[in-house]
Amino acid sequence: RAKEDGRNTFRFFEPAMDAALQKRRRMENDLRNALRKNQLYLDYQPQFGLDNGKLTGYEALVRWWHPSEGEIPPTTFIPIAEETGLIAPLGEWILKTACTYATTWPLDTKLAVNLSPAQFKTQDVYGLVRRILAETGLEPERLELEITEAIILQNTDAVIDTLTKLDQLGVCIAMDDFGTGYSSLSYLTRFPVKKIKIDRSFIDTLGTSERTSAIVSSIVGLGQSLHVTITAEGVETEGQAAMLKQWGCDQVQGYYYGRPEMDVTDEDENRPAQPLDRPLVA
Ligand code: C2E
Ligand code: MG
Ligand code: MG
Ligand code: MG
Repeated sequence: RAKEDGRNTFRFFEPAMDAALQKRRRMENDLRNALRKNQLYLDYQPQFGLDNGKLTGYEALVRWWHPSEGEIPPTTFIPIAEETGLIAPLGEWILKTACTYATTWPLDTKLAVNLSPAQFKTQDVYGLVRRILAETGLEPERLELEITEAIILQNTDAVIDTLTKLDQLGVCIAMDDFGTGYSSLSYLTRFPVKKIKIDRSFIDTLGTSERTSAIVSSIVGLGQSLHVTITAEGVETEGQAAMLKQWGCDQVQGYYYGRPEMDVTDEDENRPAQPLDRPLVA
């Protein structure tokens, strides 16, 4: 077989590359199984309002516990799911599982779910979201869908149409990892983005880089002018939180406030008070 020959030739010249390909193929297979064998689960990371320290919602983050490899990070297996088409059943499972859980939370607690740009290519995302909201009974206003700037690369009318219909349904469209992807802001005039999440890489260097501080405070200002909610991702220190609060950033998410956890209902009563009992800002 030509295909087999090709592979053998590959191995001959690039043994390391071939090993990587084999590992990838194995992982693709394992991921297919993982979906059926309950090896996937979701963690939920809290988000807080910065002005009053109150819990606003949780972001669902998918996890894979591989039987022999242990925990495999989503940054490894989501790209594989995207390339193999597994992102469609995986994305549906994530949305359904997270929405089902969120119906047990207090009514003012929102749920954020990440969507891969690949889902828009192969699926009717609007139809999917509508169906799952109907099946689970979660109010559309409680759902936030996080997309990344990579979606601009498939800036078709279909994507804009889907996002517009979701917006009209009451779902919040959030731009994740803001500032790391596409270098044009013009999509903010075409996409119904209601929330911007400043990428963790900017928050990382707050306080050590004057330029980063200028960029972050400008994004916060942009959000205020556009009436778009600004969330800072990856807040790890009190100092970062203090700067963000001073600039008027709306929401925060990060290890300083809470790590992603599987079960967030067990301590509901303590939750809202959690960041308040710390001296957040001088
Ligand atoms: P993201 O959507 O930007 O999620 C935030 C990531 O930052 C999460 O990593 C979270 O655990 C991590 N994080 C939060 N706070 C901090 C902090 O203070 N410090 C540091 N160092 N990290 C923090 P995670 O869970 O490994 O997810 C990585 C990425 O994988 C996500 O980035 C998202 O792009 C993708 N992903 C995760 N879950 C899903 C999912 O259900 N669907 C899709 N399509 N993508 C997902
Ligand atoms: Mg996200
Ligand atoms: Mg992000
Ligand atoms: Mg990210």
